[in-house]
Amino acid sequence: MSTSTIIEPPRLGTDLKTLCLTNVARHWKRLADTAAKSRQPHANYLADLAALEVDTRREHRIQRRIQDAKFPILKTLDSFDFAAQPTLDRDSVLDLFQCEFVPTHANVVLIGGVGTGKTHLAIALGIAACQREHRVRFSTAAELTNALVEAQHEGRLSRKMEQLARFDVVVIDELGYVPFDKLGADLLFGFISRVYERRSLVVTTNLPFAKWSDVFLDPTAAAAVIDRVVHHAIILKTGGDSYRLRAAKRSGRKGVQDPA
Ligand code: ADP
Ligand code: MG
Repeated sequence: MSTSTIIEPPRLGTDLKTLCLTNVARHWKRLADTAAKSRQPHANYLADLAALEVDTRREHRIQRRIQDAKFPILKTLDSFDFAAQPTLDRDSVLDLFQCEFVPTHANVVLIGGVGTGKTHLAIALGIAACQREHRVRFSTAAELTNALVEAQHEGRLSRKMEQLARFDVVVIDELGYVPFDKLGADLLFGFISRVYERRSLVVTTNLPFAKWSDVFLDPTAAAAVIDRVVHHAIILKTGGDSYRLRAAKRSGRKGVQDPA
């Protein structure tokens, strides 16, 4: 049972609604009660209410950014096992997660074999950027290219490019898993050129740069892409065996073998 002695002033509810102060409307009475009981100065009560509104709105904005990013799954750095990646310098990774690369429009490239945590880190980095209220979009290289090709066929390529270029960070996952056709390669190159030095790309790939020409079909196009992606880029290399495979082997599941 509430023992609150606070009486709601007649206009307050509608005024808070008019001002869209939904969080203040929801919590003012509880805070007023605490303030009265602890004889808090009025100014502190007002400051607490303002902080509550600001913090809650910020939290909602962050949640919206995370939803808009369309991550396939949520992963964070907290669940990343650095012991499994001894060649990855923990301090450099922690530094990267401060997201200074976003305002400077630098890129991040994660290179390494299958299952070594590239996508995990790319998602976690994307979420860290969302938490700093940057606009992020996650897509695989194949999805991004298909979206560009489709937009081209439907005569809305420039609108699509415009829309993608509005994100502060675009994660391009799995570059190199599927080779592109000529149009796909050209359009992806067009997008990378468009955002060069204006936005940040986070690219994950299993291919060393020397093999990128296999994906872009043409060594000149590959060189141009590497030039734009790698210029102002932080490059992290993940190594070792697949994490899942190792974890499965450690847990002693039967039938788990090293791939040939
Ligand atoms: P990649 O993109 O390099 O192929 P993923 O990031 O998809 O690999 O990793 C495969 C799975 O293993 C994911 O479930 C991921 O969360 C997990 N994983 C990989 N490396 C680590 C790590 N160092 N610590 C915790 N989980 C990891
Ligand atoms: Mg991956």
